[in-house]
Amino acid sequence: MPELPEVETVRRGLAPAMEGRRIVGVEARRPDLRFPFPERFAERLTGRTIAALGRRAKYLLADLDDGETLVMHLGMSGSFRVETATDAAAPGAFHHPRSKAATHDHVAFRLEGGATVTYNDPRRFGFMALIPRAGLEAHPLFRHVGLEPLGNALDGARLKALFGAKKTSLKAALLDQRLIAGLGNIYVCEALHRAGLSPLRAAGSLTEAEAERLAGDIRVVLEEAIASGGSTLRDFSHADGALGYFQHSFRVYDREDEPCPTPGCGGVVERVVQTGRSTFFCARCQR
Ligand SMILES: [Zn+2]
Repeated sequence: MPELPEVETVRRGLAPAMEGRRIVGVEARRPDLRFPFPERFAERLTGRTIAALGRRAKYLLADLDDGETLVMHLGMSGSFRVETATDAAAPGAFHHPRSKAATHDHVAFRLEGGATVTYNDPRRFGFMALIPRAGLEAHPLFRHVGLEPLGNALDGARLKALFGAKKTSLKAALLDQRLIAGLGNIYVCEALHRAGLSPLRAAGSLTEAEAERLAGDIRVVLEEAIASGGSTLRDFSHADGALGYFQHSFRVYDREDEPCPTPGCGGVVERVVQTGRSTFFCARCQR
């Protein structure tokens, strides 16, 4: 399942092809993904210009010039690929294994200038919606979405205020999407290790200094993943223009029984289960 860094990487990959471009045609090849497509989907998009491609939590937001926003969610297995007019002139360039999955190409956006952006989703847990931009924050999809972990909104003071006197574990509080949006299991484990904080501690027990350190390390972990995705993205574009998932090397995630990577620690990465999810951490340097 794509986590926030993957979605942000996809956004950065799609933005040059989509921003400022007029949509000249839309083909939805089935009536639904996880949910039905919006009524008159193709008609409402055709002729519109994409003013900006943004992101909120794990949703991509294409702001249209008529005040509506095309909201796109990748679900479990969604990906986009961009084909330019030049690629189309050389069809041989696309005779690679990925083309076997053409049955999972569900939506194609044709853009002015000749590029086509295609949405592929084998498991169809993704979805698309059209929502007036002015009502976005109040919409049921976004009403309870917490603070963005990237950018300046999240700092130690905000984090400490969000956690208040919560007795729930630090791990569970960080995964609570109503508090912070888009942080998944992998990046929570990584940020806690980097900050030297135990996932088992009560969220409300953080000192100001610890909260400041954790807020900074959340951002670093996400930005490193995005940077690594960016390099993968360049490789992908050379291959087939696909913008999707990437493997990233993690310090503790999925490294049970391996030596702790903290210099001089000498501990071993342990796995415990918290609220049904695996937590990877080092009991020696995470306090
Ligand atoms: Zn350690």
